[in-house]
Amino acid sequence: MNPLQYVDSNMENLISDLQTLIKQPSVSAKNEGIEECANLVAKMLKKSGIHAEILRLKKGVAPIVFGEIKSKQNPTKTLMFYNHYDVQPAEPFDLWNDPPFSGTRKGNKIFGRGATDDKGELITRIKAVEACLETTGDVPCNIKFVIEGEEETGSAHIEAYLKKYKKKFSSDGVIWEFGYIDAKNRPIIGLGMKGLLFVELSVTESIRDAHSSLAVLIKNPAWRLIESVKTLRDSNGKILIKDWYNEVTQLSKKDLKLIKSEPFDENIFKKEFGIKSFLGNKKGLDAKKALVGDATCNIAGFISGYIGDGAKTVLPGSALVKIDFRLVPKMEPKKQVMRLKNHLKSKGFSDVKIKVFHGEAAARTDSSSPFVSQVKGAADKVFGKSILNISNAGTGPMYPFVEILKAPCISIGSTYLFSRIHSPNEFARIDLLKKTTKCICLIMQNFAKP
Ligand SMILES: [Zn+2]
Repeated sequence: MNPLQYVDSNMENLISDLQTLIKQPSVSAKNEGIEECANLVAKMLKKSGIHAEILRLKKGVAPIVFGEIKSKQNPTKTLMFYNHYDVQPAEPFDLWNDPPFSGTRKGNKIFGRGATDDKGELITRIKAVEACLETTGDVPCNIKFVIEGEEETGSAHIEAYLKKYKKKFSSDGVIWEFGYIDAKNRPIIGLGMKGLLFVELSVTESIRDAHSSLAVLIKNPAWRLIESVKTLRDSNGKILIKDWYNEVTQLSKKDLKLIKSEPFDENIFKKEFGIKSFLGNKKGLDAKKALVGDATCNIAGFISGYIGDGAKTVLPGSALVKIDFRLVPKMEPKKQVMRLKNHLKSKGFSDVKIKVFHGEAAARTDSSSPFVSQVKGAADKVFGKSILNISNAGTGPMYPFVEILKAPCISIGSTYLFSRIHSPNEFARIDLLKKTTKCICLIMQNFAKP
């Protein structure tokens, strides 16, 4: 039996192990079941023949489950799987058709919080390694698992873990925690993530709200904040902060070619959101380029004064706006914060207070890296066709992996695009779990080739 045949004949084990994982709640936001789930994952690794240990940083921080298996035939190359065992809260409970931690199986689907994100992804990788061990008594290359417990709350300590265990984690390539599969069953191979800078700007004018008749004398902080925010970008989305784009490099010819070949149905997208046109009237290639490579300055929320029913003539004492900036490669969050501060000061808005919540740099693996063709070759073989995406429009903690481990990082997995991750009735598709497990087997083999 070869590893792929093993996957075919052992799907029932994969499914029941996934159900066991789902049945153990592990909600990092509420610190519910974290230790228990870490222990369960370590047990599951061991059951599949992988050495496992629980790593700790300090008290109060979720442990990392580290798994390792050395290759006898090729001990010089190491592939890492990065995953997480924590899940999003299951609320609102009443919108679930089955209890969120039940792992209910219906037809081709397994339902439950974490069914796909990320317990489904994790199980495909564990089972792929098991398939190699059971059929060949070896793995094609060294394998490491880094499975964290704080991903759904922002991976606050992943960088510290990577620094502390740099040697232990050292790898030649990293397979990211998830990867999407589109509606036509094509895996989307992701080579990067945008960065993020999340800030709050606020203006306080008076110590309390006032009668709005006093607007002749008392300055309105909401107006003040609007005026300051208005200076940050133009109506087409271009950021107007001095030097904001200084370090940004152009997309390479190869990247542009990849973007061109990526499918993107503008009309379906617009219909999904009920919108008529895109920002700046972008069309075709420009829309695709923006998703992959444009920085943004987005108002996530704005609050001031009265927003209840009917009318209230009030002059608010303060105003607050939350803004997220998506960053592209080479933008350093700290540097961008300084630029934002300098900008507001130079425009005369020294009274606008800035609070920084989160800063994370973008990461991108070079599309010409051999690792990319190794992964794509495996995906094409199993799925028939796959799509290369040079950067996800969203953010994930990929940068510290690329920067600290100096290893290329690629996202590929079993996450069906509409599998309701983070929402009620999250599910994993059994057909995709099977194909992805096989795909991971082939990735290990391709990666091991000289
Ligand atoms: Zn998630």
